[in-house]
Amino acid sequence: MNVVSEKNFDIRKLTSFKIGGKIKEVFFPENVEDFENILNTYPNAKVFGNLSNTLISSDGYDGVVIITTHMDKIEIEGNTVIADAGVKGPKLAQIVCEQSLSGLEFMIGFPGSVGGEVFMNASANSQAISDSLTSVLCYSKEKGIVKYSKDEMDFSYRHSRCKKDNLIVLQAEFKLLSKNQAEIKQQMENNLQFRKAHQPSLALPNCGSIFKNPQGDSAGRLLDSIGAKSMTCGGAKVWENHANFIVNSNNGTSLDVLTLMYNLHTKVKDKYEIELEPEIIFLGGKNEKENELCKILYKVK
Ligand SMILES: Cc1cc2nc3c(=O)[nH]c(=O)nc-3n(C[C@H](O)[C@H](O)[C@H](O)COP(=O)(O)OP(=O)(O)OC[C@H]3O[C@@H](n4cnc5c(N)ncnc54)[C@H](O)[C@@H]3O)c2cc1C
Repeated sequence: MNVVSEKNFDIRKLTSFKIGGKIKEVFFPENVEDFENILNTYPNAKVFGNLSNTLISSDGYDGVVIITTHMDKIEIEGNTVIADAGVKGPKLAQIVCEQSLSGLEFMIGFPGSVGGEVFMNASANSQAISDSLTSVLCYSKEKGIVKYSKDEMDFSYRHSRCKKDNLIVLQAEFKLLSKNQAEIKQQMENNLQFRKAHQPSLALPNCGSIFKNPQGDSAGRLLDSIGAKSMTCGGAKVWENHANFIVNSNNGTSLDVLTLMYNLHTKVKDKYEIELEPEIIFLGGKNEKENELCKILYKVK
C-alpha cells in the first residue's frame, strides 16, 4: 500500500469553516482498494470527504482520519453513473450534464463529496441524492464490503443507514434520466442563483445549515424569531441574512462556534420548548468545555 499520509496534519486548510487543529494522522487514498486496506488496518478511523459539513476542534483530534477527496473516479455507461466517494458534487453535476443526464442538478450548488452526501442524504432545490441513487458500495467493520440497494439504505431527512450502522461509503451508483442539455444547464444556473440570494458564499467560511429543520417548521424561522441574527461569540457570528448559518468572520475557534450553537439552542428551547438538533458533525474530544457543550447539543453521554 503506497498511500499519501501525513502525521500531525493541520486540517484547518481543508475545512469549509477554516477551523480545526492538528490531526494525529491523515490518509488520502486514491482508489477503493487503498481505501479498503486503510480501513482494514485502522477500523476506527474517521472518514471525511470535503469537510463542508464538519466542525473540527481547534484542539485537533488524537486519532486517524481518512480523507476521500483523492478518490475521484466516475464511470458512465448509458444512464448509469458510478462515482467514487470522494467525487465532488459540483464536478459530478457538470460531468453528467455534459452527457445530457438529469437528476444531480442540485449538487452544483454546494461543496459536498458523494460519500458525505450519501451519509447526510444531502438535498437542495427539491432534489435529494437518494432520488436518483440505485445502490451504495459500503465498507462495514463487521461484514467487509457490502452493496446496499437504495431501499436498504434507510434514507430520510438528513439520515442514512450509514449513521446507524457505521457504514463507510466507497462508491455510489445512480440511474439518471436523459434530458435536453440546455434544460439541465438552466436548472443548474437557477440553483446557483438561488444560492447566491439565500446562502453565504465560502468567502465567508461556513458549514452550511447549522441545525436541522424540526418536523413541520424551519430552524431559520425559529432562530430569526429569537434575535439570532445579531448574535456572536468570539470570531463566530450568525450570518445577517439567514439565521441558520454561522460564519467564521474573524479567526473563530471551534469553541466559539459550539458556544454560539449552545446559546442559539438554549434560546429556542426556552421560547418554544423545541430542542434544535445540529445538522453539522463535530469531531474533537480533547477540550473539556467542548465536551460539555456536545453532551447537550449532540446528546452524547
Ligand atoms: C455553503 C454551503 C452550502 C451547503 N448547502 C447544502 C444544501 O443545500 N444541502 C445539503 O444537504 N447540504 C448542504 N451543505 C452541507 C454539506 O455540503 C453537505 O452535508 C455534504 O453532504 C457534506 O459532504 P462532505 O463531503 O463535505 O462531508 P464531510 O463534512 O466531509 O462529512 C460529513 C459527514 O459525512 C461523513 N462522511 C463523509 N464521507 C463519508 C464516506 N465516504 N463514508 C461514510 N461517511 C462519510 C463524515 O464522517 C461526516 O459524519 C452546505 C455546505 C456549505 C458549506
